[in-house]
Amino acid sequence: MDNPSENRLQICEIHGEFRSRLHAKSGKWTRCWACIEAELLALDAQAQQDDARRHRQAVTERRMAESGLEGRMLRAGFDTFVAQIDSQRAVLEACQAFAESVGLEDSRNLWIIGQPGTGKTHLGSAMVRHFIHERDTAAAIFSAREIVRMLRASWGSRGEGAEEAEGDVIERLGRAGLLVLDEVGVGFSTDAERVQLFDVIDLRYKLGRPTVVLSNLKASDMKPILGDRTYDRLREGAKQLVCNWPGSRAEECS
Ligand SMILES: [Zn+2]
Repeated sequence: MDNPSENRLQICEIHGEFRSRLHAKSGKWTRCWACIEAELLALDAQAQQDDARRHRQAVTERRMAESGLEGRMLRAGFDTFVAQIDSQRAVLEACQAFAESVGLEDSRNLWIIGQPGTGKTHLGSAMVRHFIHERDTAAAIFSAREIVRMLRASWGSRGEGAEEAEGDVIERLGRAGLLVLDEVGVGFSTDAERVQLFDVIDLRYKLGRPTVVLSNLKASDMKPILGDRTYDRLREGAKQLVCNWPGSRAEECS
């Protein structure tokens, strides 16, 4: 039998009646057990939220590191694009709407054509940043040549050590929420390079992932550069925007 002097009924405002015991060492009466349990659960939930936040932050940092964004491109946003004339505002709004609304399986592409210095790279970078920060998905901007260089560097590697396996590069760029192909127009020297780019574009095509093409060439002039198959896949379901204003080197990111 409990010694009545060592336990007594008390009322918890939340949980009602409970039996409190005198803790011999501290001389204190125990608190409502349901309250203690609730506090432990809350602490647990808080720790899980902190873990989740840290995890999200680490994922975002890794996505940024793998995005191809560098220098001024890292800060390029829709809000920092200088739009002074109607055609600039229209292109800016179309890019922002595309970044915000295009589905990852929509099979919708965007071509942005314009002279160097018209801000294409700025807009492409802003779209990549929007995907990483607002849509919580991987996104990247690379020139076709950079993609080929990455694939080359991964040749023969099985992904050991610092090297990424070739298949991993294709998967990463093929599955990314958004891929912006910059500087399409700088030619490839070999058919092997066209084949490598095709592997990435073909995976995106099969998944319906959106791809943005930036170039200072007319679309039809890009066909021999990209190769027919890559061109056809990028052109299917594509909307085209034209930056018809004069270029200023100062406004281009790269
Ligand atoms: Zn209680």
